[in-house]
Amino acid sequence: MGLELEKATEIIRAEVGPIEETETVEVGRLGGRICAEDITAHFHIPPFHRSPLDGYALRAVDSRGASLDTPIELTVIEDIAAGQWPQKSLTSGQAARLMTGAPIPEGADCVIRQEETDEGLTRVKIFKELSPFESFCRQGEDVKRGEALVRSGERLSYAHAGLLAGAGLSSVRVYARPRVVLVVTGDELWLPAQGALPPGKIFSSNQALLSARLLELGVKTKPAGPCADDGPAIAGRIAEAAWETDLIITTGGVSVGYRDLVPEALESLGAKTLFHGVNMKPGGPAMFSLYGRRPVLSLSGNPFAALTTMELLARPALAVLARDAALELQPGIGLLENGFPKASPGRRFVRGTERDGRLRLPEGSHESGSIGSLRGCNCLADIPAGTGPLAAGAQVRFVKL
Ligand code: AMP
Ligand code: MG
Repeated sequence: MGLELEKATEIIRAEVGPIEETETVEVGRLGGRICAEDITAHFHIPPFHRSPLDGYALRAVDSRGASLDTPIELTVIEDIAAGQWPQKSLTSGQAARLMTGAPIPEGADCVIRQEETDEGLTRVKIFKELSPFESFCRQGEDVKRGEALVRSGERLSYAHAGLLAGAGLSSVRVYARPRVVLVVTGDELWLPAQGALPPGKIFSSNQALLSARLLELGVKTKPAGPCADDGPAIAGRIAEAAWETDLIITTGGVSVGYRDLVPEALESLGAKTLFHGVNMKPGGPAMFSLYGRRPVLSLSGNPFAALTTMELLARPALAVLARDAALELQPGIGLLENGFPKASPGRRFVRGTERDGRLRLPEGSHESGSIGSLRGCNCLADIPAGTGPLAAGAQVRFVKL
């Protein structure tokens, strides 16, 4: 008998460490990356007092008593567009015409919108009384000089991208993403490039299934063809992969059949097995080992089993490697909308679709080799060992896909 899943993930977590390597990315591409530096603002944002609207800068005291019936006339000393810098400072009885984003000249303490004036060019009548700092966008009102913009370890988003760009940065140092190599094994596996499907062969799903899923999680894999059920060939692929990877995931050949050669291949490499077998269905034969310091997860070949065990076992490892809590499993509890006719003597993960706490299990095949009914699913219902057939309305735990 194998381990409980929680024990298995605990073992995995204890053996993987965060990636130290960093790289520089353009600020426009930092979404989902983990920041590897503290960055503080070198200047105020905005860098100067500026006008939030098209109008006139003036002194609030000069507007006292102004109304539609009793306008006050000021001398327009300058016309300042966004991107220009004021040439004069403003004194009593004066105004400067400003466009949105233009710097407010020295001496002015508020801005009146042009709709509340006669829009005069040399002299302007104002129709409203203003208070000091009305429509006055202060220097540093968004970010002050010396303020932290991002901290090391923070998960970056579009908001950070905009902020860093506005602070004059074009790139940011981030932690490297985990590199995963998939070694898909099976003598029966065939690729479209090899031509028509011979009898007894199947097209391999796992490479595409798992790499597409990993890519959704922000983890890239290298394309590679299937490996034969051959101990030395599997060992060769694992040894080769170890050079350039943070996690190796194998599929197929991990069970007890005489053609299940992944454990033997790992043993021939001197890898250390930390567990082989997890109390769950599908994918119970899952195995975890260390080849040197490289973690190796070996999963069943059945596509739904490979996906489920990758989700449950690899995500916690990836979260640690990437320092990214968003990669951790996201559990939830929901109510079944429809029943599940089969009893679950052991713990079982069943594909489903969850919306607002309600779970629907697909009608199609739930076999571990079937993925037709996986389309549209967004969760795995976690059915405890010893559960009988489930009726609609039953409460179930799930993890989000
Ligand atoms: P195994 O884990 O090697 O015993 O394989 C279990 C089942 O999964 C067998 O029916 C295999 O043919 C199938 N299988 C293994 N690898 C793949 C793959 N890459 N794509 C699709 N099916 C696979
Ligand atoms: Mg096989």
